[in-house]
Amino acid sequence: MAWEQSGIRLCLVPPFTIKEMSAPFRSYVLVSREQIARNFRNVRSVVGPQVEVACVVKADAYGHGALEVARVLSAEGAKWLAVSSVDEGVQLRGGGIHGARILVMGGFLAYEGDAVVEFDLTPAIHSLAQIRDVDRLAAASGKPIRYHLKIDSGMGRLGTRASAAEILATLADTRHASMEGLMTHFASAADYTSPQTAAQLAYFHDICQALRLAGISAPHLHTSSTNAIGYGRTEGWHTLVRAGHALYGYVSPARGDAPPRLLDVKPALTWKAKLLAVKELPEGALVGYGGSFRAARAMRIGILGAGYADGIFHRLSNRGKVIADGKLTAILGTVSMDLTTIDLSHTTALAAGDDVTLLGTEGECSLDAQQLAKVAGTISYNILCSISARVRRVYV
Ligand SMILES: *Cc1c(COP(=O)(O)O)cnc(C)c1O
Repeated sequence: MAWEQSGIRLCLVPPFTIKEMSAPFRSYVLVSREQIARNFRNVRSVVGPQVEVACVVKADAYGHGALEVARVLSAEGAKWLAVSSVDEGVQLRGGGIHGARILVMGGFLAYEGDAVVEFDLTPAIHSLAQIRDVDRLAAASGKPIRYHLKIDSGMGRLGTRASAAEILATLADTRHASMEGLMTHFASAADYTSPQTAAQLAYFHDICQALRLAGISAPHLHTSSTNAIGYGRTEGWHTLVRAGHALYGYVSPARGDAPPRLLDVKPALTWKAKLLAVKELPEGALVGYGGSFRAARAMRIGILGAGYADGIFHRLSNRGKVIADGKLTAILGTVSMDLTTIDLSHTTALAAGDDVTLLGTEGECSLDAQQLAKVAGTISYNILCSISARVRRVYV
């Protein structure tokens, strides 16, 4: 285990039921390498052998730890990884990830050009001017840089809105770097009440077709991320899909009349926090900043060694739940920076030093990032990415 290498022993606390395994950190996540691998295999089997899967490990692999996740995926045969920035790509190369191509979806800025070349990164390019930049970079370095041109087909974020004719004119005078991919990104792939995905695909296909007629065809076309895979929008799969959320066990809920989900993926991460204290409160006692919770009767409470600095949303104050001794129980009062108070009136089994589950399964009970997101007024991606750096990642 990664943290054993740092000299910290695994604590196995018998009996091996709820307290099956505990790591010596106040707040930590257990990431199942096997579950990540299974999710990847599931994505691969859904898209089939003709379609490559680019594994999206940006944002520290959605909180799961980019390097370790990239190692697992590389060992599973992933040929493509995708990150957001040059910096994230450099971190992977620095960590020994050499076998896979790395697509930098956020492209590069002028000062990052040298790193693109040195670390063999494949940038997404978002404008005609950037095609010229990457071409100059290839000419200057003498290296055959490959890039993927991103088309803004209606997301209105990154990507060029240039016409096929303008793209062709630029390609005609940029002969050093080569366009390996044409890509776009969907804004509403899980929304079956919206025509936006069909409109985006039509726009993208028109551009690809016009380029093809002029003799330019990129080896890879790619438009789909998790939701377009999960709901089987096969017309958007082309030669490559970009899967992030699915690798971590999630597909967004659909809107409208969606076809059945093809993906069978499960969360790979369990998030725990230790109780620092357990104590009794008399009726009428107030809890936390602002005294926003008042004990309606005498109760037992637990104080967790984790707060919003660990990624427990402040919005969960007086509304969130955690799993303690196998049961869902309420967060009491405001979540503070380093501490969160919970109701333990249902159990006498827990004491200082014991673990409580913030995300994951314990006994019959489970809490996932989508459930948490609903209560916190956000999305599951936001929950996963908010588990902060001080929460230790433990790989099992
Ligand atoms: C983040 C991202 C993805 C992955 O999306 P998921 O919904 O997590 O699968 C794919 N493509 C682009 C351009 C992205 O920014």
